Amino acid sequence: MSEIELRNLSKRWGSFVGVQDFNLTIADQEFLVLLGPSGCGKTTTMRMIAGLEDVTDGEILVDGKVINDLEPKDRDVSMVFQSYALYPNMNVYENIRFPLKVRKVPEAEHEERVMRASAMVELDDFLHRKPAELSGGQRQRVALARAIVREPNVFLMDEPLSNLDAKLRVSTRAQIKNLSHELKVTTIYVTHDQIEAMTLADRVVVMKGGIVQQVGSPTEIYDTPANAFVASFIGSPAMNLINGEVTKKAFSGDTISVSGLDLPDGPVTLGFRAEDAAIVEKGGQIQAPVYTMELLGDATMITVKVNGELVSVKAAKDYRAEIGDMVRISVPKEICHMFDAQTGARIG
Ligand code: ATP
Repeated sequence: MSEIELRNLSKRWGSFVGVQDFNLTIADQEFLVLLGPSGCGKTTTMRMIAGLEDVTDGEILVDGKVINDLEPKDRDVSMVFQSYALYPNMNVYENIRFPLKVRKVPEAEHEERVMRASAMVELDDFLHRKPAELSGGQRQRVALARAIVREPNVFLMDEPLSNLDAKLRVSTRAQIKNLSHELKVTTIYVTHDQIEAMTLADRVVVMKGGIVQQVGSPTEIYDTPANAFVASFIGSPAMNLINGEVTKKAFSGDTISVSGLDLPDGPVTLGFRAEDAAIVEKGGQIQAPVYTMELLGDATMITVKVNGELVSVKAAKDYRAEIGDMVRISVPKEICHMFDAQTGARIG
């Protein structure tokens, strides 16, 4: 059992804030993903949990006990990094066994544990190879096996897939998800890739500038983003965001008018997702010339440009239009997300 609690966890270097007042309880066996752009504080948070970075303020508790002052080796966590950090002179077997030697696990247990860990990541046939004789995906699996062999209660993974090509990333992602489930460990996983976050996580924490923006299940974060930043960070393509003004329950911006909104008068940012809008023959809230058309296989993405703003809408896979053709886009109020124009906070 390993429940992790972060209480007002903060990291500062001088006056620079790396992480500020992070509060969260991560349940035993939960798969939690820290997501955000470069420099938002994901790695720093993870390194504090691993004990590789001192905590400036706040507490980290594991199963109710404060671990701030525990040495990294005394914390029951295994970390997998973006760079595999394998020992080039050791073969796969020795690399996987290394943590057992460091921790002075009785020799008699080594072989069985290495074999079990290597089987989990399907490396049984590669045990005698040196890292240089492996593909990138196989090397990352050695790094995973080396984390597994310790049988920790907590896995910390920092962008473990970022050195893999797109296809390998998808299969290794599935393997990580499966392993975490099978091993029944609490996993904290850092990524800047929203698709990785959405596919892996029980809950996602979206961070920006060291501050948590939203914590929720992938569905919650996608369906009800807490602010315009989260809305623009989750989903592919990014949510369409249009600045404008609400007057007498109607939004009007440079590109669009939507009526029947239950909001007070004032400046707001209106958002909607490409997949929620539709191209229509008549009516519609936006009329604009096609800027690009992209064939996605299962759909066609139409992007229009109105007064400098790009707005995307997903159409049927056999929909075709030429650049410059006028299209009408339906944006009913039901699909609209409304954000405060100044703070970005969700208001409807
Ligand atoms: P990335 O995806 O690029 O790894 P991240 O979200 O993991 O980004 P962190 O590595 O946690 O970001 O860094 C958060 C911020 O703290 C960054 O602005 C970084 O420059 C800063 N930072 C990290 N380590 C130090 C340090 N030792 N001294 C000063 N500032 C630091």
